[in-house]
Amino acid sequence: MKVLLIRPHAPNKLNFTKILDNEPLELEYLHTALKAKGIEDYIYDGLIEETTVKDTIIREKPDVVAITGYITQQNLMIKFCSISKEINPSIKTIVGGVHAQRNFEVFFNDSIDYVYRSESVDDFAKLILIIKEGNEKVEKLKIINGLCFKEQGKYIKNQLTPIDINELPIPDREHFYKNKSKFRYLDLTEVATIKTAFSCPYSCNFCYCTLLNGGKYQARDLNLVMEELKNLDCQNVQIADDDFLIDKDRLWEFIRLIKENNIQKTFICYSRADFVCENEDIIKALADIGFKYFLVGLEAVDDSELKGFNKQTSVDMNERCVKIINSTSSKCIALMIVPIDADKKYFDNLYRWVKKVNVKYVTVSIFTPIPGTPLFDQYKDKITSEDPEDWDFLHLVLEPTKLSRQSFYREYNKLFMRLYKIAKKTGIYDFMDLKYYKNMLTDYLKRRMRGD
Ligand code: SF4
Repeated sequence: MKVLLIRPHAPNKLNFTKILDNEPLELEYLHTALKAKGIEDYIYDGLIEETTVKDTIIREKPDVVAITGYITQQNLMIKFCSISKEINPSIKTIVGGVHAQRNFEVFFNDSIDYVYRSESVDDFAKLILIIKEGNEKVEKLKIINGLCFKEQGKYIKNQLTPIDINELPIPDREHFYKNKSKFRYLDLTEVATIKTAFSCPYSCNFCYCTLLNGGKYQARDLNLVMEELKNLDCQNVQIADDDFLIDKDRLWEFIRLIKENNIQKTFICYSRADFVCENEDIIKALADIGFKYFLVGLEAVDDSELKGFNKQTSVDMNERCVKIINSTSSKCIALMIVPIDADKKYFDNLYRWVKKVNVKYVTVSIFTPIPGTPLFDQYKDKITSEDPEDWDFLHLVLEPTKLSRQSFYREYNKLFMRLYKIAKKTGIYDFMDLKYYKNMLTDYLKRRMRGD
């Protein structure tokens, strides 16, 4: 029995820049669970592989192909399942990941045998063992958490129940260590990813993070987090929690344990502006133990927009948040959303605000209702795109209301370039030297030629 675990490449237009390439942690968790059961697997990581998925299937001869991905990878996930079946119809195909968890019906397709929705790596291994034993009977499959499968042409959807995050194993990072230099975060090279919580206790209506793991926020035991960190042979660590800064007592304990265990690493994490404003002392303490980047969903420069998102923050908080982070050795990466009713003045105001509050690193998404969120239900009749690849937050999936599409993109690109110039002055992009651009171009051309 051999399982091919696939993370497709990200088909978004900025992907070729290779400045934010993260470790495929969810596949490494699956690899760890399979290894414990004596099942062989191969991780195909679309971010770094030189061969196509098709050639890899021919070479590896898997019995099972399991593919994860976001909404932008939906077409690729379905395509790779079809390719698997074309090569060998007896290959069993499984899709999973956050998009499949919230939007499983889009994967009800002849080439897909199973939609795996749970975060449980044990149940994944159980499913593989059922397939291995040729025992794919309804009564066996029924016990797999959240699984969707076909029975006599009809889909059966098992109930999805939240799992205990402490059941996750310490991931076997064989794949990461082999390819360490390929995973980076801006100027930080060799960046590992860890998970210390599932879901998010807030309820911003544009975000599906809060709905993951059956909608249950759960933080991992810090002793397990420390065990993982102590044995992690990597200087830089991205904490992939949807929001790491939630529980004050837990954070003080985290800081204490990092010091006690003499863990000297550079960290990146997500946060909210209100937490930063209310906990200046924690932010300073985190900066002191090595937190370099706080990614904060500031989202808007207008209180009514923030209210519309159910963000429970304010523009005043956003400004104070940047000031607090700027007063430490850490940097604030502001995550903003530009609304579809933005006009030229709006784009200019946003730029002026960024300059005024002195935030150096800003990413601006175009307002994009994500399938599986309450906001999508509100906008579903107005969606103008049918291509999942447009859900990369860089494309309009709704008609702009005050500008033509062309003018909207022109203003957006102009803002993008102006913000890039601000960040460039800080030196954050200094790693993008001539050699870097050459590698980036070579990689881009290779992918184009492979056509995957
Ligand atoms: S935007 Fe951030 S705070 Fe809001 S629900 Fe998503 S992860 Fe939580």
